[in-house]
Formats: sequence, C-alpha cells, structure tokens
Amino acid sequence: MSELTTEVVVAGAGPTGLMLANELALAGADVVVLERLSARTGLSKALNLQPRTAEVFDLRGLLGGAERRSFATVGEGHFAAIPVSYTSWDTRHPYQVGIPQAEVEAALEERLAKQGVTVLRGHELTGFAQDATGVTVTAGGARVRGDYLVGCDGGRSAVRRGLGLSFDGVEGRGYGVVADVVFSVAPSGAPTQWRSMRNIVASHGAGVFHTLIPLGEPGLYRLGYGDRLTRPADMRAKVTDEEVRQVVRERYGEDVEVEEIRWASRFADDSRIAERYRVGRVLLAGDAAHIHFAAGGQGLNLGVQDAMNLGWKLVSALRGRAPAGLLDTYESERRPVAARVLDNVAAQSALIPTSAEQRAVRALVMELAALPEVEHHLSGLVSGLDVRYPASPDAHPATGTRLPDFELEDGYASDLFHRGGFVLLTTRPTPAPHPEVTVALVPRLPWPDLARALIRPDGYVASTTGSTEGWIAA
Ligand SMILES: Cc1cc2nc3c(=O)[nH]c(=O)nc-3n(C[C@H](O)[C@H](O)[C@H](O)COP(=O)(O)OP(=O)(O)OC[C@H]3O[C@@H](n4cnc5c(N)ncnc54)[C@H](O)[C@@H]3O)c2cc1C
Repeated sequence: MSELTTEVVVAGAGPTGLMLANELALAGADVVVLERLSARTGLSKALNLQPRTAEVFDLRGLLGGAERRSFATVGEGHFAAIPVSYTSWDTRHPYQVGIPQAEVEAALEERLAKQGVTVLRGHELTGFAQDATGVTVTAGGARVRGDYLVGCDGGRSAVRRGLGLSFDGVEGRGYGVVADVVFSVAPSGAPTQWRSMRNIVASHGAGVFHTLIPLGEPGLYRLGYGDRLTRPADMRAKVTDEEVRQVVRERYGEDVEVEEIRWASRFADDSRIAERYRVGRVLLAGDAAHIHFAAGGQGLNLGVQDAMNLGWKLVSALRGRAPAGLLDTYESERRPVAARVLDNVAAQSALIPTSAEQRAVRALVMELAALPEVEHHLSGLVSGLDVRYPASPDAHPATGTRLPDFELEDGYASDLFHRGGFVLLTTRPTPAPHPEVTVALVPRLPWPDLARALIRPDGYVASTTGSTEGWIAA
C-alpha cells in the first residue's frame, strides 16, 4: 500500500472537487484529489453556468476558457420553465453559458494540472479515520494522511455516510431521463441554437414533461423527459435505446429519425441536505452535501460556489490565519443557501401542473413573473446572484453581498482576484490593513456612499470599513 501525505484530501473529481482543488492549489496548499473512476466518462449532466458561476470563473480567469468550450450563450434563465431575464442584475454576465458538465470538468482539470496537481484516478475512498491532528484516508491501494478531508464525492457520498450524518429531505415521486440524441431528421420546429429558455420545456399531461435543447452540433440534442408523479419500478434500470426511441416517436411523431443515442441516464427527484457540512476535520461540498431535482439548472453551480467559499477558509485554517469560527462559517453560510435552493426547486416542482388548480396557479405565476420585481426575484434565486451571507444588523447593506464587477482604467475589478486573496478596494490611498490584503486604488466603488470595501477571496464583501476583524487572525 502506498503512503502519501498532504494538507487536504479531496474525494471526488467532479466539478465541486476540481474547483475546490484549484482554489486550494491557488492559495498554495498541498492537495491530493482521489477519484473513484479510472477515466473521465465524458458524459454530461449539467449544461449551464449560471451568471454567478460565470462571475466566479471570471474572478479566477477561468471564464474565457469555459466560453471557448461552450456551445451556446443563453440570454435568460427559467423558473419552472417560465423564462426569467437576468438583465435587472448589476452583472457583466446576465446570461447562462451553455457548456456540458464534462467540458467544465475538463477545463478545471486542465487548470489544476497547470498548478501541478494530478487527479489520482482509480482511487475510490473506502474508509477514513480522523484524530486530533488529521485524517487518514484509504483509497484504491493508497493510504493518504491529510490535515483535512473534503467529501466532494457526489450524492451517494461515502464521506457523508462515513460521518454517519443524516441526509434528510423528501423522497420524490417522479423521475426524469436525459439522453444526448443525434437526429437524422429532427422534430419539426426544433430550435437549432440554444439562445433562450422559451419553448425548451413542454408539459404534456399531468406531471409529464419533455425538453429538447440543441447542443451546437448538427442534429445533436439533449432530450429530456419524465413524469413527476410516477416512477418506473426499477429506478436504476438502464435506459434502453428502445425506450428513448419510443418516447421520441410518441412525442415528436413517426417522421422523426434518430441516428444515434450517445448516452442516456435516469435520475430521481429526491431532495436532501446533509445535517452538517463539517465534523471536525472532515467537510462536505457539492452533491455530497445536497441533492435536488435538476430544475432551473442549479446543482453544479451550487457545488462550484461551495468550493469557492470553502477553499480560502481551509487554507486560512491550515496557515493559522483563521480567526476562531471562520471554518464554521462555511456551513453557516452555505447550508442556508442550499436549503433555499431546495425550497425553490420544490416550488418549481409544484408549478409543473398535475391538476386544473395547479394549472391556474401556474398561469397566475406566469403573469406575476412578467412584473419586473418578481422577475428580478426569481432570476436572483436561480442565478445565485441574490446570495447574501449573514452580516450584523448594523452593517452596511453591501456587507455579505457579491462585488458586482466594474471597469477599471486597465481592466476590470475581477482581474484583481485572479490570484485569490483579500482585496481592499479603496477610493483613497490607504495602507494595507494586513499583510494578506492587496490594496487597490479605484476611481469608484459600486456603492456610491462607500470609500472602501474589503472583498473576500470568493468575491463577497467582508467589511465596508476595511477592517479584517473576524476574517484574518491578527
Ligand atoms: C440529469 C441531470 C441534469 C443536470 N442538469 C444540471 C444543470 O443543467 N445545471 C446544473 O447546475 N446542475 C445540473 N445537474 C446537477 C449536477 O450534475 C450536479 O449537481 C453536479 O454533478 C455536482 O457535482 P459534484 O462534483 O458535487 O458531484 P459529482 O458530479 O457527482 O462528482 C462526484 C465525483 O466523485 C466521484 N466519487 C464518488 N464516490 C467516490 C469515492 N468513494 N471515492 C472517490 N471518488 C468518488 C465520482 O466518480 C465523481 O467523479 C444535473 C444533474 C442531473 C442528474
């Protein structure tokens, strides 16, 4: 058995684990990434980066690469298939980046390799034990000793189960299937480019839905279908080509011709959240901490934001820079965000009509969603732009909110965050409040009444006085 020593062991090389490993490596931490699979599957679940994810990718100089791998720019999001515009938000990215999850993972793994970290594939975490000074992990013939372990190992997380944490929530009644299908004769009227959420989802009968998203290659579509009220007897049964072909025939008619089904997968609509995100030196992030139905396109995005929140806090703890309680703010900040997403997903589910009454409620919500304030609220929910971390009641309203990016003479404020770390944005020359803080003199701030704002490495306002108290140990 090989023996390795590191600072942080990350279990799982999905989008959350890869983002976290990047954040840790960027901040100079030693990291080992363990992945169960021996090779990347190349299969895609998520298809989108929400505006807040585009922003955090931009903070790390990752957005350009992701956009080069993308197949679409989608000018709006949706709430229960009701299109909602992001344009009322102060963001440079009021759109979804259409990009397969496999491409997001490839981009993150490429960046990670540039930082000198290789994913250890074929290394399934099968056990771990923590003590006062660290965690010892067993995975695929290796024993890895780290100061911390983070379970980014997906919905069936072995780390979460190893911690004995409950994963409470609601067992859904329905299911969905996604399949990447190449049509030689596509359904008539099917869009050839994904530019909007309009006409992407259709409901047919109580609880039954269909989606068709063009994936940027001629004839290639992401077909989705499902039923929110009933499930097949065996949810784990393989989706056969015949099942997909039959759904296509029934939904789109006999004239449509399927040339190839590249992959297909069945998924449940369970909704669950881990009771805790941290037990001592072991933490959870991404789907390991929360799962929900893929409504609104939020799961991958939530995991990436978890990683952004956790990375710098872990490195602060490793370097002895974390004030008491900083690492616990990972759970106190991120768990409520996930719980709120689970709630908005449940609300979206209730808006897929299964009765005449629900159809009436949906029609009413559609009318309401046309009101600018309601649309702003709904797009804030699904995009991640509305997240505000807890702040004291007398703090300036900007505290805990994201820094909206803005133009500087020679670039954008987001450029100042490419290396991670705290940034003090100030309109007047000011000494650094701490050696860990970079001071940037800017002509203005997004909040006209403020002369300075200390921004955390993940792009949220730590304080509007410039004080590092509570964020960096003195
Ligand atoms: C059909 C479908 C469509 C979706 N569409 C969207 C969408 O449009 N937008 C969106 O934002 N989200 C979407 N999601 C959700 C999104 O795919 C997930 O939220 C995302 O994959 C979570 O990333 P993760 O890294 O936390 O977990 P995962 O992607 O599950 O990655 C976990 C990794 O850990 C590895 N692993 C597991 N166990 C172990 C172990 N014991 N040891 C080591 N490694 C292990 C796995 O092999 C995997 O590589 C969708 C999900 C589904 C199912």
